[in-house]
Amino acid sequence: MATVTLDHLTKEFDSGRILAVDDVSLDVADGEFVTVVGPSGCGKSTTLRMLAGLEQPTSGRIVIDGEDVTDVHARKRDVAMVFQNYALYPHKTVRQNMAFGLRMSTDLSKDERQAKVEETAEMMGIADLLEDKPSELSGGQKQRVALGRAIVREPDVFLFDEPLSNLDAKLRTSMRTEIQRLQEELDITAIYVTHDQEEAMTMGDRLAILDGGELQQTGRPKDVYENPRNEFVGGFVGSPSMNFMDLDVSIASDGDAVTLTGEDFSYTLRGERARRIADSGAQSVRLGVRPENVTVGTGEARENGNEAVVEVVEPIGSDNYLYLDLGSEEFVARVASDVEPSWGDTVTVAFDEAAVHVFDARTGDSLL
Ligand code: ATP
Repeated sequence: MATVTLDHLTKEFDSGRILAVDDVSLDVADGEFVTVVGPSGCGKSTTLRMLAGLEQPTSGRIVIDGEDVTDVHARKRDVAMVFQNYALYPHKTVRQNMAFGLRMSTDLSKDERQAKVEETAEMMGIADLLEDKPSELSGGQKQRVALGRAIVREPDVFLFDEPLSNLDAKLRTSMRTEIQRLQEELDITAIYVTHDQEEAMTMGDRLAILDGGELQQTGRPKDVYENPRNEFVGGFVGSPSMNFMDLDVSIASDGDAVTLTGEDFSYTLRGERARRIADSGAQSVRLGVRPENVTVGTGEARENGNEAVVEVVEPIGSDNYLYLDLGSEEFVARVASDVEPSWGDTVTVAFDEAAVHVFDARTGDSLL
């Protein structure tokens, strides 16, 4: 077990023309499971590859368990990496694949190595596959072997690079649970990379969200979901995505109310929330509301209730998704399954006040 520190880590490619990782700092605690998530090209793999020693940082440091390993060769780092494509040796059996890493990194006797391989294979449910070659295995079995090969070495740190991407949806779900179980049982420090925000939300103690090589936010999935630091994080986390609307800010003469207006839409904030918008000096904002925080009704619109036309009603079992036309914007609402307006109906739309986010349109930073 170990702590991991990324200290102002930067990686450039192509003589500085590509900034893949931009000044990323992150502390991972002993036994913690951190999920690094972000869109394609945001620098996730490069970050992980630097941790593994497969890529040399342009600047910054990597510290594992108190030791600066920035210039330490990959083989000499006590980390194991599990890849999306499994990276098994095709001509070796499962047993040989698992034993190989052990031979490279420990000074156990042959018998001790075999005993460890068998014990790990038992734990991973792959004991009856030990004499098979990778080509004889299914995708799920290959990934189990790849995990087993990493676990058998008992490394200080586990690095996962989108390990479940090649598996079908059902297998992916069960492997997610399995990886979490192993991580907890073995009490290992794990850094898990994925582009799938849903996977990131369900796995790990903490999320680290990257965009454009920069760390946008870290925190417990629930906290990040409820309090996104900026518009990118708000839009990236959650499915269906947060609804956004471009609005102008007008401040009442007494300074106690702020009205956000757009074409066919207005929203008034009062008290402390209004003051925060006014104090920021922002003139244009993006209002953000998650689908579950949109309520839909009929009848007279109250303050902050706006009219919308129902475009699509999509039942998802327990709830309905309503696709609403709010004039210039399309909004998605997640409502109870007994709220079933018809296509073309005009409804009133309101938001849970406490769950309304406001982002500065210029910087993307959260104001509320
Ligand atoms: P994905 O989810 O698509 O794998 P990622 O978030 O893992 O993306 P990286 O693979 O780390 O992103 O790439 C970050 C940026 O660095 C991208 O613009 C990529 O094209 C670039 N990049 C990565 N490796 C190299 C390389 N060896 N040479 C040049 N550019 C590279």
